[in-house]
Amino acid sequence: MKFAHVLTCFAIALGLCNAASAETARVPVVAAENFYGDVIRQLGGDRVQVTSILSNPDEDPHLFEASPKTARALQHAALVVYNGADYDPWMDKLLAASKSNDKRTVIVAAKLVGKKSGDNPHLWYDPATMPAVAQAVSAYLASADPLHKSDYDARLATFLASLKPIDATVAQLKARYKGVPVTATEPVFGYMADAIGFEMRNQRFQLASMNDTEPSPADIAAFEKDLRERRVHVLIYNSQATGALTKRLLSVAQDAHVPSISVTETLPAKKTYQQWMQSQLDALAGALQGWQR
Ligand SMILES: [Zn+2]
Repeated sequence: MKFAHVLTCFAIALGLCNAASAETARVPVVAAENFYGDVIRQLGGDRVQVTSILSNPDEDPHLFEASPKTARALQHAALVVYNGADYDPWMDKLLAASKSNDKRTVIVAAKLVGKKSGDNPHLWYDPATMPAVAQAVSAYLASADPLHKSDYDARLATFLASLKPIDATVAQLKARYKGVPVTATEPVFGYMADAIGFEMRNQRFQLASMNDTEPSPADIAAFEKDLRERRVHVLIYNSQATGALTKRLLSVAQDAHVPSISVTETLPAKKTYQQWMQSQLDALAGALQGWQR
């Protein structure tokens, strides 16, 4: 092993191989969603080259349609990570259509956590999901680039440790607000709300909102009544999936003095996944501060 290494260096010194590319070759990775892309970057550091497809904060990911540019990004990926559970059905189609399937490793978050089509697809809001994705990504990196396994292991440990404050905040919120009725315009925050133990109201409305279909007049009326009569203690507002109706509900909440927090589908610019989750939980804690059981 040592001898082989000496030989390699000797070959590089003679210019027999491309030293620069050997040193800087990065693992090309495509993440369908930018929060997975951010985590992969944290796990791979300079050794990965990550392209994230969904990252536009002004675009509703549920309405996204893949373009030829998306297909091109996948061509050279050694690792592809996507959410699954029907959040990004265009990924299945692109992967089936693109060549070199045998050389590519694909990690689907939904499969790792046992979710399927029809389940709430916003899996990255479930505190159990990102540790599972990180373990799988790190295991792949270590197998693709075994020379740097100890580095990947250390980065994984750092990442997992960095999730602890988020788990602690969830536990604190649960201790205080378990069973408190809340509502939301769209199910993006659903798993986190479940982890806290909220009673989530108006779920049919939220599904219609996610699927871009018309909620029933009865569901709209029930939502408004919850806000006007302050039967819910916070409105979780998905600011990335809005329409005339959700905007109106936000103003009904404001008129009724029901506090609201803004949450997003994708990772906002200049934030890590951990900062994003933490800031939303902090906003939630702030919104509920005045509430007494
Ligand atoms: Zn959504």
